[in-house]
Amino acid sequence: MTTTEHAVVIAGGGPTGLMLGAELALADVDVAVVERRPTQELDGSRARGLHARTIEVLDQRGVADRFLAEGQAVQVQSFARTPLDISDFPIRHNYGLALAQNDFERILATWVGELGVPIVREREVTGFAQDETGVDVALSDGRSLRAAFVVGCDGGRSLIRKVAGIEFPGWDPSVSSMIAEVDVTEEPPWGIRYDDNGTQAIGKLDDGQRAGMVLTERYAGQTGEPTLSELRRALVAVWGTDFGAHNPTRLSRFTDMTRQAASYREGRVLLAGDAAHVHYPVGGQGLNIGVQDAVNLGWKLAQVGKGATPESLLNTYQSERHPVAARVLQTTMAQTALTRSDPRIDAVRDILSELLVLDEPRKQMAAMVSGLDIRYDLGEGHPLLGRRMPDLDIVTADGPVRVFTLLHEARPVLLDLGAPSTLDIAPWADRVPLVSAEYDGAWELPVVGAVPAPTAVLVRPDGHVAWVGDDTQAGLADALTAWFGPPSAR
Ligand SMILES: Cc1cc2nc3c(=O)[nH]c(=O)nc-3n(C[C@H](O)[C@H](O)[C@H](O)COP(=O)(O)OP(=O)(O)OC[C@H]3O[C@@H](n4cnc5c(N)ncnc54)[C@H](O)[C@@H]3O)c2cc1C
Repeated sequence: MTTTEHAVVIAGGGPTGLMLGAELALADVDVAVVERRPTQELDGSRARGLHARTIEVLDQRGVADRFLAEGQAVQVQSFARTPLDISDFPIRHNYGLALAQNDFERILATWVGELGVPIVREREVTGFAQDETGVDVALSDGRSLRAAFVVGCDGGRSLIRKVAGIEFPGWDPSVSSMIAEVDVTEEPPWGIRYDDNGTQAIGKLDDGQRAGMVLTERYAGQTGEPTLSELRRALVAVWGTDFGAHNPTRLSRFTDMTRQAASYREGRVLLAGDAAHVHYPVGGQGLNIGVQDAVNLGWKLAQVGKGATPESLLNTYQSERHPVAARVLQTTMAQTALTRSDPRIDAVRDILSELLVLDEPRKQMAAMVSGLDIRYDLGEGHPLLGRRMPDLDIVTADGPVRVFTLLHEARPVLLDLGAPSTLDIAPWADRVPLVSAEYDGAWELPVVGAVPAPTAVLVRPDGHVAWVGDDTQAGLADALTAWFGPPSAR
């Protein structure tokens, strides 16, 4: 049996695995992705778009334009059917992006290919065994890969999670939805209706001849992919006719099963994306939080893998990302309940929608859905601490530049905004670029509003603020050590 060695092996090349592959490649880590599918093409329809924070993380790597060029900027955010406009948010991308997951994955895979990440296609990870120094990963072709770390980005049914023995507690399904693309002989009533099971939708597909459908039933143990007869029965149950539905090209099922991995790490094995959390797609956050898991984990794994930072850094992946997904699980369960239509639920939704059109509740929920309200708990301090760094237009000795441009290589940056610049971080200069810059505009965050202008900011590779300076260097050495390792001997 041949064994190939890599620093990191990623099981699964969906949105999360691809993004993690890119992050590790940018950090010069020898990474390989193992993917079951022969191409990036998906069997069924899945995500329809990106939220603002995902556009930002792609912008932080200099590739957002590729996605923006193929999608449509729209206000995609909503909560329990109430649209949530973010066009007044103080951010560059104050919108979402309508873009099918198929297109998202294709564009992402092209970039990952340019970064030189090998994708081992048409192979499955069939098991693994970890020891003190690494993990042996078994592939379906009999080969084996050896890696220091393995990341399960292998979706909701994750084999990695199961073999690692990681519990997946949560809630069983209450509804089951069929998603289909079919020919019809009778014109259906195009549009969405809601009943006591949830959403029933029929839309014209691009060619105008075919229908795309989402039909929701109570969950009664439905397993596996649905058949055309099941789809027809569901149409009759809702509309009294099946509109002559035939010739399905896409037919699949999803439920509102809601579960989250009890731990995101077991030794040298980590989980990200759907492998770590599953929920009903209402609100459209699953792909988005998976991509953001990858951006949180990538640089940490790179540093630990290279021995620059102790392994304990990986614990912050769980402590930062587990609460984010837990909140998404809660809010999608609430929204799933509110997709049903009966007089009592309609009354609750109406009251909620009266609140959500008010400015403060709208901003709060919109920032949550868009991923713009995330604050990692890095202790007390300036309101920027733990939050996303705004993409300011600053001026450096080389001229005007956007802050996100400084993050393109997935490296941290210490921005010295003081006049004159006084910061000295020579013992970390090999790992943390120091950029002196001028900025005299406003410092504004979504929901939080205006915050006091800092004199310096330490920004992690994922774009979150790790330290804020206020005319002194107090706490900077501790923050640099905690996030980027001990000082080098001068
Ligand atoms: C109908 C529907 C609509 C949705 N709409 C939205 C939306 O609007 N917005 C949104 O953000 N999210 C949406 N989602 C959720 C989104 O599709 C997922 O959250 C997203 O695909 C998760 O990405 P992932 O990479 O973590 O997992 P996956 O996309 O599941 O990718 C896992 C990959 O691992 C591979 N794999 C699995 N096991 C193995 C193995 N043993 N060896 C090798 N490869 C393996 C699979 O082939 C797959 O490519 C929707 C989902 C559904 C079902």
